Amino acid sequence: MGHLRIDGEEVELSGARMVWQRATSGGRRGFVFQVTAYGRRRMLHLAAWAPADRIGDLTGQMVPLLASGPDAAVDGRLFASGEVRFGRVRDDLAILSVDGTVEALDPESDARSVVEADIRAILSAVLERSRCVACGLALGENVGERDEFVGGHRVRRPIVPATCGACTGFAETPRHCPTCGDAYEADAVQSLGDMASVAYTATCRAGHTFSGNVSSEAR
Ligand SMILES: [Zn+2]
Ligand SMILES: [Zn+2]
Repeated sequence: MGHLRIDGEEVELSGARMVWQRATSGGRRGFVFQVTAYGRRRMLHLAAWAPADRIGDLTGQMVPLLASGPDAAVDGRLFASGEVRFGRVRDDLAILSVDGTVEALDPESDARSVVEADIRAILSAVLERSRCVACGLALGENVGERDEFVGGHRVRRPIVPATCGACTGFAETPRHCPTCGDAYEADAVQSLGDMASVAYTATCRAGHTFSGNVSSEAR
């Protein structure tokens, strides 16, 4: 899965994933990608956007981390500067390296720590959602678009509400898979924490696993 070094101290990574979703930026086609990599007591996450027609086109690209804010951090310490360099990217695997500096542990300090990571990430697409979690019917014209900042890049991507217009206000655990519309079996949906009615993770019979929060998706 790779290695993560902070000021030269190396940790072996035990897991790394990258997920992608199509998004345009300034009219150019591309992908938002999110990388999560973790090792013993260390966790790196970052999100950014890169121009490409196919995910494999990321191969060999360099993507700067520009004013990423909370979208790029190691152990909760934000990247002050940095870049992602992709090696080979194919449908199910992305090889990438990350070089940058992160803020010091002491927020009063101007010191920076040097971060280097070599990552071999399992790659997958963000599951598309096109069905109402309450009734299972297609969302159709309820899907819109929104501009937002991801890792310092202004991107336009779909906003997909959790429910169709007829089910607006639904605030229970989902009854249908948002990807295929299949009705969940009784033990397929797990609620998370105190917000039992709205935060959940669920896997349908087709194997689509979805975690979410009904109210925030519906905003
Ligand atoms: Zn509905
Ligand atoms: Zn499904």
